[in-house]
Amino acid sequence: MEPSRNLIKSIKWYLLDIIFPEACLGCKNRGESLCNQCILKIRNTERETDKNIMAVYDYRDPLIKKAIWDLKYHHRLNLGKKLGAMLYEFFLEEIANMEAYTKGQSILVIPVPLSRHREKERGYNQAQIIAYGLSSSGEKGLFELNNNIVVKKFDTKPQAKIANRRERLLNVKNIFEIRKNKTVKGRTILVIDDVTTTGGTINEIIKILKKGGAKKVVGFALAH
Ligand SMILES: [Zn+2]
Repeated sequence: MEPSRNLIKSIKWYLLDIIFPEACLGCKNRGESLCNQCILKIRNTERETDKNIMAVYDYRDPLIKKAIWDLKYHHRLNLGKKLGAMLYEFFLEEIANMEAYTKGQSILVIPVPLSRHREKERGYNQAQIIAYGLSSSGEKGLFELNNNIVVKKFDTKPQAKIANRRERLLNVKNIFEIRKNKTVKGRTILVIDDVTTTGGTINEIIKILKKGGAKKVVGFALAH
């Protein structure tokens, strides 16, 4: 019974999005889930991330924090798509650089997976909604979104609840795997997450994708 209940839940939230037109999360003006004026006021992150992982906003900024919170816990799926489109706009240049590696193939877009248990509980994976927003912003054929390639083997403690950097890295070590028969060989891949803390989670995924033969893997996160 579980899957169909989740489906109904998703449809319900989808319909609510249509029935009640969006208001901006920042200024409450009608029209968009986040308007351009408010987006421009969000503080960009200045903190360093890893070489192949890039983030846009400073997670301490209250508006981006609230946006991610609303996407995760209040089913604001349109807002999630908007966040993905923002990621696309911000990284246009990096995406163009990645295209140089693809040899005409699409860039494979992989959202950081939740455990199956967590995704069932929430009804969706927030990173997947952001990845969808990003993928559908690009021209046709540029991206190929696939949330079936990397799976999380078991539940872990949320990274944000662990203060110690070393423990965070250990917490996500070897918890992801590439699904049987899914080939990533020679592909250029973009890994998407909502928030990165130490970069540990995205790095683990980059590691297994590289091991699986991926040519180039880059991680984008909305906030850091
Ligand atoms: Zn606004």
